[in-house]
Amino acid sequence: MQSTQSDILFGSDGPEKLEGRDICLHLPCSRCGYDLQGLPATSVCPECGTSTSQSLASAIDPTMHKLPPLLAPHRVGNALLMLGVLTLLAAFSIALREVLMMPWLGLDKSSSAGMLLFVTTGIAVICGVLGWIPVFQLWPSPADAGIHSGRKGIATLAAGLVVWVAGCLLANKFDADSLLGPTLIDLVPLSGAWLYLLGLRQIVVEVGARSRVFRTDRIRRQRIWDLLIGILFIAIGIVLVWAGEAYSSTGNQSSIPFSSTFTLDGKPVSGIGFLGMAISSVAVILVLVGLIYLCFNLAWVRSALQSPPPRLREYLSPVEGT
Ligand SMILES: [Zn+2]
Repeated sequence: MQSTQSDILFGSDGPEKLEGRDICLHLPCSRCGYDLQGLPATSVCPECGTSTSQSLASAIDPTMHKLPPLLAPHRVGNALLMLGVLTLLAAFSIALREVLMMPWLGLDKSSSAGMLLFVTTGIAVICGVLGWIPVFQLWPSPADAGIHSGRKGIATLAAGLVVWVAGCLLANKFDADSLLGPTLIDLVPLSGAWLYLLGLRQIVVEVGARSRVFRTDRIRRQRIWDLLIGILFIAIGIVLVWAGEAYSSTGNQSSIPFSSTFTLDGKPVSGIGFLGMAISSVAVILVLVGLIYLCFNLAWVRSALQSPPPRLREYLSPVEGT
């Protein structure tokens, strides 16, 4: 009565006949979570009627087992998650710094401005330095696949870390004198972040293939490419702010859109500078949200690396009568 489709499943070791075999590992029903262990592989869930073969199919990950094994999956998983958390912390800290230094908050003139700059920049720099720990953990090549194909990503990421740390220190030094929102110096740590994410992307694409949820989830999966575009928009915003400041200092008035000047909190602000600030702010928020998602994604990858799903053959009792 059963279709042949559910009689045979494809696992990492090839097709497996389900007829006459039992499920011998803990296997939650894919629909209701009922433990199907001990039931025949061709039966249905006693609670909800979902076929056990369907639950088997959703529990195994043949694709993962066909990929070359990692040298040290635990270490790679931990390193990736650590990179994600450090990235998020550094990004939040730098974003906070830019918010605190917005001219219309008035904090830039307060006595605590120096302290706030020091703390927020300090966190971003420390994150950049600590980022070298996972870099060294990943260096033995994140995947054996290809010839050090992952190493290019690690090298790019490490170069990004150096530029990020240098850029944060540089931006801090210059900002302390005239705190007028973002400056062109901020493009240095931004380009570091760009390089870093470019490298992280190469690593995550290669290692992340081992997580089924990372490969298949289309909604909660954060594409690093989108973060790179976000950073590009932050940079565009910063350049516009700079152009606006340069323009408003000349005192010209013209009919070019967005180039007129208005006064905000006693300071002349050009339309183009305000537009730049808006673009930057929106892009910063989008990047921060994206980084939160990325952390979740990296946690999936870590979990798949550290406790990979059993193979189909391990789920099934041995074939009888052979
Ligand atoms: Zn069920």
